[in-house]
Amino acid sequence: MEKTSFSSTQGKPIRCKAAILRKAREPLVIEEIQVDPPRAYEIRIKILCTSLCHTDLTFSKLDSGPLARFPRILGHEAVGVVESTGENVDGFEQGDVVLPVFHPQCEECKDCKSPKGNWCTRYTNDFLSNTRRYGMSSRFKDSSGEDIYHFLFVSSFTEYTVVDIAHLVKISPEIPVHKAALLGCCVSTGVGAVWKVADVEKGSTVAIFGLGAVGLAVAEGARLRGAARIIGVDLNPEKFEIGKQFGITDFVNPTLCGEKKTSQVINDMTEGGVDYSFECIGLSSSMEEAFNSTRPGSGKTVVLGMEKDAMPISLGSYDLLRGRTVCGTLFGGLKPKLDIPILVDRYLKKELNLDGLITHELKFEEINKAFELLAEGSSIRCILWMDK
Ligand code: NAD
Ligand code: ZN
Ligand code: ZN
Repeated sequence: MEKTSFSSTQGKPIRCKAAILRKAREPLVIEEIQVDPPRAYEIRIKILCTSLCHTDLTFSKLDSGPLARFPRILGHEAVGVVESTGENVDGFEQGDVVLPVFHPQCEECKDCKSPKGNWCTRYTNDFLSNTRRYGMSSRFKDSSGEDIYHFLFVSSFTEYTVVDIAHLVKISPEIPVHKAALLGCCVSTGVGAVWKVADVEKGSTVAIFGLGAVGLAVAEGARLRGAARIIGVDLNPEKFEIGKQFGITDFVNPTLCGEKKTSQVINDMTEGGVDYSFECIGLSSSMEEAFNSTRPGSGKTVVLGMEKDAMPISLGSYDLLRGRTVCGTLFGGLKPKLDIPILVDRYLKKELNLDGLITHELKFEEINKAFELLAEGSSIRCILWMDK
């Protein structure tokens, strides 16, 4: 990308194409929108490519409650290039290749400075404002001048977006951008959950509920950690074949377990339960099954899936007393600015395998087809190219 090619747009609003969600469960509409210039601590980026995560699908169906907002620009797995920067932005320049990340890292709050966890106390509790630093004001307007809501502070289903620097990571231009986009959510979440949250040891047994991109990334993380046995659970038998590339050794299809629950089958397979289980579907019943699949005394369950209706889960109190633990994680416990460059490096060293996760590539205009592919389970990740 030529650094000079953006000089004509700097400081001015840009008109470009975006895919707008006007109403829950309706197809996105490609419209011309206006994207304002970045304010202080913000960067306007040109999106190069974006993919779809199940969380986009979940939010496209949410029609009520505080998290449902319209009109909205979804999308949060993407790679872009810096078009212009607002005031007080250090470390980013026009033309830099950047990865927007839904999970913030302000680098200044108590939790960002702590080596533990990835909860940026300064920003993570704020789900509802339009921008982190400026409350409700939006950077997007439709052709009639109406504000458009962002999504997860990224909004990548548009040719240009504005992102706070707490949500932006500069990456090496050596990694192919469509592979890098996966580090914006699914791969980082899955690999991070194994690495930072569960801290899986060599020789461990692992069960993964749901073998979409997040679940397969958990498998990849477990493979890299030297897990001895990685059991994949999915309704779709095709996921076992692809799962083998990511280290899955055994497959359980819950619909073929007869009278037994999936957790009983896994307990039988592992003589008393796995060391670690990961829920990557987003169903409270699967979270319970994941918990019941772990070994008493030391088993650990990590919940990654997002329950659409925020349903509670029910765990036997005696099962907890027997020494099992359960926790959840956003973005796999990774601090984006510190840990994404490590994952990029491991990819470039050919340690981290990302082959096989991108099953489809389409033009941005075909975005509704990409939603269909994910919803029907035909794709793992579909890359949408903005300029092709
Ligand atoms: P996906 O749609 O690609 O994959 C889901 C998989 O689960 C599919 O393979 C599907 O066949 C399988 N599945 C569905 N119902 C099942 C059932 N009852 N039993 C067994 N398998 C079943 O989804 P994804 O993009 O990999 O996301 C997975 C989950 O992770 C979603 O809930 C998403 O919202 C969540 N997520 C969370 C974070 C985080 O930070 N915690 C980040 C990304 C995604
Ligand atoms: Zn996601
Ligand atoms: Zn912080």
